[in-house]
Amino acid sequence: MAAVGSTLADRLAGGVVLGAEGYVFELERRGYVKAGAYVPEVVLDFPDAVAELHREFLRAGADVMVALTYYAHREKLRQLGRESDLEAMNRQAVRLARQVAAEGGALVAGNVCNTWAYDPQDAATAGVVRAMYAEQLGWAAEEGIDFVIAETNDYLGEALIALEVSQELGLPAMVTLATTQPAKTWDGYDYVEACKILADHGATIVGLNCDRGPATMLPLIARIREQVGCAVAAQPVGYRTDEASPTMESLRAEGAGRVFPLALDPFSCTRFEMADFAMAARDLGVNYVGICCGAGPHHVRAMAEALGRMVPASKYSPSMDLHPILGAAAPGQDPDVLDAWNVTR
Ligand SMILES: [Zn+2]
Repeated sequence: MAAVGSTLADRLAGGVVLGAEGYVFELERRGYVKAGAYVPEVVLDFPDAVAELHREFLRAGADVMVALTYYAHREKLRQLGRESDLEAMNRQAVRLARQVAAEGGALVAGNVCNTWAYDPQDAATAGVVRAMYAEQLGWAAEEGIDFVIAETNDYLGEALIALEVSQELGLPAMVTLATTQPAKTWDGYDYVEACKILADHGATIVGLNCDRGPATMLPLIARIREQVGCAVAAQPVGYRTDEASPTMESLRAEGAGRVFPLALDPFSCTRFEMADFAMAARDLGVNYVGICCGAGPHHVRAMAEALGRMVPASKYSPSMDLHPILGAAAPGQDPDVLDAWNVTR
């Protein structure tokens, strides 16, 4: 790990912290999470699968192991009839993250997200959300985490509740917003303004994650970086969004319509695009650079290497000079074989 320190503050002081998320999407692809509900039942049902993905991200250079408690809150588990598994699922997720983090000196983050239970027009919902965050983060704190990531917040109001609960537990918090709307949170705050408010309330890191790909997150994060004093995070999805379709939810394939969330594959960023993003974010002064839904370990390794790091998985980074057709030995190949490879249609 390039950034070595015992606390989040130490790591931030040492340079860019590299994050890796998108666990739910990746484990869905691997057959361990049901799309639609997206509840991480895998934590209890196939813990080895979770540990393995943590390990792959760790070897690829991630500085933080994020406990897979996204959507592991009371409201979601009730829908699946697994409310009685709530505490075990949350505790186990932190244990798995801790176990793998210890293999490479990574930090461990507890994780909460938007609950879908918050309604700014109904004051009672704030209490419901607070209780859900308090129990999730209370268990995480008991198991041992370095900081909290509260993410994909559509509402500033809900994000502030997560921040307050983290502070009550004495934990630093990284609070990031979902940016599904063009300019404002669902409760009407300009994204830049919302980040300033979160910073003023004591968030250690503020910023954006999910929904937007690199191309449409960078301009917004540049404005946030200019206007907030604290550390800033940017964790885009690994999909090619653009001005016409600024979020993965708005991407459309010709003849197929909506591709979110199950047919996003043709829009996947290459490792090179994510490496370019990592450098661009670093150059803007972003302190916590990562990737969200759509992430694969190959993206994370390319990002780490673009930031100048050698990571455990760098041992197997590409050496295209060794390739029998594309590499140095290619001129010795049968010309017919080379012609077949180089044919243009
Ligand atoms: Zn995501």
